Amino acid sequence: MQFDLQSFLENARVPYKAHFLADLSQADFGGFSLAAPAECDFSATPTADGAALLLCVKAKVDAECARCLEPIHNEYNFEREYLVRQRDVKDPDFELPCHEKGCLDLNELVFQELIFEVPPVLLCSADCQGLCPICGKKKAAGCSCQPADNAAPVDARLSILKQLLS
Ligand SMILES: [Zn+2]
Ligand SMILES: [Zn+2]
Repeated sequence: MQFDLQSFLENARVPYKAHFLADLSQADFGGFSLAAPAECDFSATPTADGAALLLCVKAKVDAECARCLEPIHNEYNFEREYLVRQRDVKDPDFELPCHEKGCLDLNELVFQELIFEVPPVLLCSADCQGLCPICGKKKAAGCSCQPADNAAPVDARLSILKQLLS
């Protein structure tokens, strides 16, 4: 969705409000993805020298635990406020994704804020113990592997060889 920020800054007398869905199912977030479009509320209110923008995002994030690869489904609900002045739109360093005609790309803004909001490494729980290096099962589920006492885990093939030799 696009919001004509430039003309809002120039002409608006009354607040603007919109509810929209940001379909970011194709967006590359790196460590996670969005199964459904993010539900967003956007409002712009004229101020003495510009506008106050408010963006509320509700998104369901799909990811994998970085340690045990268990699927994770987290919901994120957050708000961002921006104060924009007339001259900001023409500023090449303006932090909001604005096209040359002064249109704010709200989908792009939601994408950027999700990147900030969602941690790059997600865990199924803070104390996830990850996978057993011997059997590959989730450690929390409890496997019967005994950690080697004084050495690195013995390779299963090596221990068969040992048995054959003895
Ligand atoms: Zn985990
Ligand atoms: Zn194990």
